Amino acid sequence: MDSLPCKGCKGLCCGPVPINIKELKNIKKKIKEMPFKKRLELENQHRYYGTCIFYDLDNDLCGIHGVRPSICRAFGHYNNLICFKKPEASKGLNWDVPEKPIGILSEDFTWKDFK
Ligand code: SF4
Ligand code: SF4
Repeated sequence: MDSLPCKGCKGLCCGPVPINIKELKNIKKKIKEMPFKKRLELENQHRYYGTCIFYDLDNDLCGIHGVRPSICRAFGHYNNLICFKKPEASKGLNWDVPEKPIGILSEDFTWKDFK
């Protein structure tokens, strides 16, 4: 897969995303295992309204990268998930949700659901 020039975007494309039950469980586990100080820092960052609750602004990366939802992994590589900075990274296909979502991260699931 083509790599994307994400450094410096500061979460430009990281907004509310659909998640399925397995993804929710994985994120819960990851947050629970996070050192308390790190978790608190991540939770209390001042993001723009609409930016994903797990975007790590201080470090300019996804705060839950290893367990990020499938749509985040697919972003930039499909026609319906095009990267604004590198549109040519799209494979020309449309991405389809692999499993039924149970809600939207950052809207239906917020920090209070991960404690
Ligand atoms: S996928 Fe594209 S728009 Fe999103 S952070 Fe990376 S380079 Fe920026
Ligand atoms: S889970 Fe990570 S990659 Fe996905 S929208 Fe949130 S910060 Fe971005």
